[in-house]
Formats: sequence, C-alpha cells, structure tokens
Amino acid sequence: MVTNGEINGVPPPHTIFDTILVLDFGSQYTHLITRRLRELNVYSEMLPCTQKIADLAWKPKGVILSGGPYSVYAEDAPHVDPAVFDLNVPILGICYGLQELAWHFGKNVAAGEKREYGRTNVQVTRHNGHIDHLFDGLEDGLEVWMSHGDKLSKLPDNWVTTATTSNAPYAGIAHSSKPYYGIQFHPEVTHTPMGKYVIKNFAVGICKAQQNWTMGAFVDKEIARIRGLVGDKAQVIGAVSGGVDSTVAAKLMQKAIGDRFHAVMVDNGVLRLNEAIEVEQNLREGLGINLTVIDASKLFLGRLAGVSDPEKKRKIIGNTFIDIFQDEAKRIAAAAENTERAGKIEWFLQGTLYPDVIESISFKGPSATIKTHHNVGGLPEKMDLKLIEPLRELFKDEVRALGTEMGIPDDLVWRHPFPGPGIAIRIIGEVTPDRVRIAQEADKIWISEIKEAEYYRAISQAYAAVLGVKAVAVVGDQRLHGEIIHLRAVQTTDFMTADAFEDFSLKWLKRVSGRIANEVSGVARVVYETTSKPPATIELE
Ligand code: GLN
Repeated sequence: MVTNGEINGVPPPHTIFDTILVLDFGSQYTHLITRRLRELNVYSEMLPCTQKIADLAWKPKGVILSGGPYSVYAEDAPHVDPAVFDLNVPILGICYGLQELAWHFGKNVAAGEKREYGRTNVQVTRHNGHIDHLFDGLEDGLEVWMSHGDKLSKLPDNWVTTATTSNAPYAGIAHSSKPYYGIQFHPEVTHTPMGKYVIKNFAVGICKAQQNWTMGAFVDKEIARIRGLVGDKAQVIGAVSGGVDSTVAAKLMQKAIGDRFHAVMVDNGVLRLNEAIEVEQNLREGLGINLTVIDASKLFLGRLAGVSDPEKKRKIIGNTFIDIFQDEAKRIAAAAENTERAGKIEWFLQGTLYPDVIESISFKGPSATIKTHHNVGGLPEKMDLKLIEPLRELFKDEVRALGTEMGIPDDLVWRHPFPGPGIAIRIIGEVTPDRVRIAQEADKIWISEIKEAEYYRAISQAYAAVLGVKAVAVVGDQRLHGEIIHLRAVQTTDFMTADAFEDFSLKWLKRVSGRIANEVSGVARVVYETTSKPPATIELE
C-alpha cells in the first residue's frame, strides 16, 4: 500500500514535482534510472513492480519499467499491473521492461540462442511523428550496453522497430499510436555514454516533466512538511556525529522547529582527534543547532578494556550508546515538561537516505516479502518515539547539495564517512587509551597532509589505523618496540567496490610516513595499503 503521504495538508514531493515512476523488476541498475532522472532535475521515485496502480494516490508523468533477471514467459515471472496502461501516460520499458511490454501486447518473447552482453552499437530507424522522439538528437546511432538472453521473436501488432543492432532486430521498439517505447539496452549505465539523452528525451521531451527538482526548491517545502508533521509543540531528539547526513538532517530540523530539535552527540572516546570539540563548534556555534555533547569516553573505554574481538567491540559501543542516549533523552524530556513553549519529545530524527529506502522496497523475487528498514537498533521503539526521516527521498549527492543550499560549510558537506564504532575498529586487538591516542594523532597528520595536497575530495575515505602488532625501530639511539600505523585511502563511487588511491607519489608518502613516525610517540613503522575492495573491505575490521 502506498499513500499520498500528505501530512497536515503538506504534500510529499511526488505530488508537488512532476514525477517519473520507476517500477523495479529486480535489476541491479534500477536505482540508476532514478538517479539519472534526478540528475536531470526531474523528480523520480522507485516502487516494486508489484505495485498496484489503484493504491497509488498520486499520478506520475510517465512510467519506466526496469530490467530484471527473470524471463517474461516463465510461469512465476513478475508482471506489471495492467492498470498502468489506464494511467494514460507515456511508458518506457528497459530490457526486461521492453520484453514485458512486448509480452503484454503480443506474448512473443522467447529465449535467444545466446546471451547478448556488453557494448554494441545501435542504428536508429526513423519514422515520422512521436515515435522518433526517444532518439531525438541521436539519429546517427549510439554506443550502448546490453545484458540480456531473451529476445522478441516478432513485433506485437501496432508496434514498430525504432533501433537495431547487427544481431538484434528489436533493440528499440515503439507503439505506432501510443507513447509506449521499449529499448533492449540499458541507458542508465555509464557504459551507454549517450544514455542520459535517451532518458531525457523520454522524461522531458515525451512525458513533458518539468526539470524543477532542485535542492533550492526542496528545502522550503521540506521545512513546511516537518512543521506540519511535528506541530507547534512537540519536540524532536536526534543523534549527530558530525557526518554529512546527520548534520544536514539536524540543520533542516533547526530551520523547521528551532530549539525544539535537540541534537545529542555522544563522545565515545574513539572519535577522531578533537572531534567532539570541533562538532560542537561547527553545529552549535556555526549552524545554531541546539546541541548537547556528552563526554562518555571513560565509560566506553572502560567497557572496551581487554576486548579484542571486533564484533564484541561493536556491540559494546552500540549498547553503551543506546544507554547514554536514552538517559539524555529522559533528562531533556524532564527539563522540557516544565516549559510553556514546548511539549513532550515525541519524535526521533533518523538520517535515512533514499538508497536505504530503495534497498528495503526493491523487488527481490516473486516470493520475497518486503522488509521495512531499520538501522538504529530499535531505539525509537524502545523509547516510544515516532520516526522522522527528512532525507528519505534524497540520494547522497542531493544531501550534499542540500547542505550547501543551507549554508553548511564545504568541510562538513564533503567529509569522508566515519564508522559508528569509530577508531575502535581501526585498532586491531585491544583498544587501550594509548593506542587510541596513537591512532588519533597519526590520523590527524594523514588527513591534514591529504587536505594540504588537495587529494581529499578525490579520495572517498581515508584513515590511519593501528595494526596491533609491534615492530622494532631505533629512535634517538634507543630501541623502540612500537606500533605499526596502517594508512588507507580509497576511491569509490558507491562504496560497494573501491580502489586504493594511487595518485600519491612515493616521495610524498615517504615524507608523510616520516612525519607520523617522528611526531607520534610510540610509532615504529608506517605502511600504506594497496588492496582493493573486493577482496578487502574499506575498514580493517
Ligand atoms: N531476463 C531478461 C533477459 O535475459 C531481461 C534481462 C534484463 O533486464 N537485463 O533477456
């Protein structure tokens, strides 16, 4: 069931902005279709292919049927709700989506002799009228990415061919009188270099969707929506870390409800050097957010003493965080009871992003059930709070643009991700106060050198870790049995795969290693990791 999502008269983006609905048939690329549309400033949402059109309380400007791993002719293959054709809006089928259109109109799809996989060129067939619009400006043909095994055996009645390849006679098809289009290739992947123009031709040229989805347009509407949702009295609590998502979400709350939003930062003793102080300055003084920083580092480090197992470290940090956060929420609630101005804490802010939403609703197969998304260890339920998720419609690049729009400095907007368990998982073995100091000081030098050399934005994530095994060095004629510092810097677009950053010169790396070994007491050696992900992960444990 999908509702309009209207809250106290304030509608969600799909009723304000022209929206292209992407129905997901389980392709690994579906989310990219939505992203490409957003990059064109056209708002788009994804729903599973099982979506009942009657349950949709808003009307899309157009519908895209994604690719998928199934075969349309198989008995348990997923099919689009036929009511989609009663919406009277343009429809574009991509790969499985094309086959689904052909199946709906003529049942003539079968297994091909061999899979067609990889780059190929398509030739555009000109007709006259609406049929040509999908390939407007691309009449000379285009390089595309294919990944399919099934194919059309013949065109359904009233359909024509719009594109061909040397071995695929139906690389593109279109209905002769209705705005229905199918393409066998994937325009959403970067291997189809002109693919974004095909998507633009569909969304803007054919569906006539306005390109008005910008963070400037989003921010005021979202603030109004938060106000409508929370009302004039209720209060909201949320955890902040200094990372971009929680900072942007907190700033949005501050703009919407001022001090009725309470940001809480827990210093767990395994943050970066001076992090708590810097976040306090940035968020409270810089951004005017009602922030409380709780120094619980002694409690965390006490509970971590003697623990080497990474899973145990994670659990201790997670549970201790929940204890502290709950106590603080009670304290804020008690203080809030007595004020005229504000009511009870009723809401818990969570920085859920659209990829989390997509992950929870994407089509996992004909028999899979749809899960809802949780990532805060049940805290809101435990505290009997309702969840508020103002970023749940946004991709990460949109969150950054929104941050910039609200005047959040670049330093915060472009910060590398930092794991919840902090440097506890960047110290292999036991987390001792001395190892924490060494990891923090080494990391400070590493990151400041990276910034100085202007590599920071090109790198997706960088850190210094303590390997937890000792090596020998000679420092000032004294033998030192000291720690080994492990430096990591990776480049990635999605954090699913990553490569070690390789633009540093060895000379530069030697100078930075030298600084770390000389300036951080207790360090014997410094190494730089070159493993990619996979097989390695970005963090050490
Ligand atoms: N399963 C279909 C095929 O192999 C569709 C593939 C796809 O959508 N990528 O042809």
